[in-house]
Amino acid sequence: MGQNKSDKIRLKKNDIVQVISGKEKGKQGKILEIVKEKNRVYIEGINYLTHYERPTQQNPKGGISKKEGSVAVSNVKLYCSKCGKGVRFRTVAGEDGTKSRTCVTCGDII
Ligand SMILES: [Zn+2]
Repeated sequence: MGQNKSDKIRLKKNDIVQVISGKEKGKQGKILEIVKEKNRVYIEGINYLTHYERPTQQNPKGGISKKEGSVAVSNVKLYCSKCGKGVRFRTVAGEDGTKSRTCVTCGDII
């Protein structure tokens, strides 16, 4: 088999995922953006980076802004609400050609 580097990211924007490793382990959030070239995703509320902004004319007090940082796609799994955790899933094509994703653990459509 071996690793296939051209593996497509099977997650989609707006998917709910759970982080499975790293400092944000266990947290869930919605995918905001996928960076395919880097195999990374941005997830709502996950991996915040804090920016200290210098005072400017528009914002004389300066301040702190928070923005999500990216997470390696290998560190997230699609979240199954029935299982209550990030799971592996399979993509199943229906007879009419529509694809749905089912949880490997419980069999529910995610
Ligand atoms: Zn499940």
